[in-house]
Amino acid sequence: AITRDQVLAWLKAFIQVIADNKDYLTELDSAIGDADHGANMHRGFQAVLAKMPGMEDADIGTIFKQTGMTLLSTVGGAGGPLYATFFIQAGSKLAGKMEIELEDWADALEAATAGIVNRGKASLGDKTMIDALSPAVDALKQSVAEKVSLSEGLKRSTTAAEEGMKATIPLVARKGRASYLGERSAGHQDPGATSSFLLLETAMKTWS
Ligand code: ADP
Ligand code: MG
Ligand code: MG
Repeated sequence: AITRDQVLAWLKAFIQVIADNKDYLTELDSAIGDADHGANMHRGFQAVLAKMPGMEDADIGTIFKQTGMTLLSTVGGAGGPLYATFFIQAGSKLAGKMEIELEDWADALEAATAGIVNRGKASLGDKTMIDALSPAVDALKQSVAEKVSLSEGLKRSTTAAEEGMKATIPLVARKGRASYLGERSAGHQDPGATSSFLLLETAMKTWS
């Protein structure tokens, strides 16, 4: 199982990963957007870091909800509110839990991804974070069905997210700012798909 403390460790590790990749994410966004994805994520997750002392006794659902609410109040644009939705929807699935299994993680990420789709109306192949998240959710559901180990499930979901992230490179964006570029958006990796891959990769590294 993944304990509440391991969830906090993952969140802390992801905050550091975002800090380390701030310039890289902004560079990706400068090619097809407005060069702020790294700065947006960093601002939001530094605010989450400041809230973490108050999360020490919280259940897993509450940790996710508070993270989402903090992102909502600190990050504007498209990416911030979509990540806020992601954490709030995952939090609803994990309400009251002090530890979770791979199946809970799969259900939470499925609800979180559905929340982003519901808000942003992106489909697979539109060159957004959905291109990393949706294959990862499929891989997690498949892993649960096959009863593979937690670490194997996390590994498969990370691989799926990485492939989805890389697959955004040749795509023409159909949602978000990158879509304003039309055909010129092709040839660049989507920043949001990249941060979503990092989120899943950090879960694998922290929980395996
Ligand atoms: P903004 O575009 O407002 O500057 P960010 O730069 O923080 O916000 O985030 C951009 C990322 O948000 C994109 O790379 C893409 O992955 C994601 N995104 C934008 N619009 C949508 C949408 N409608 N659905 C899903 N993801 C989206
Ligand atoms: Mg941007
Ligand atoms: Mg912006």
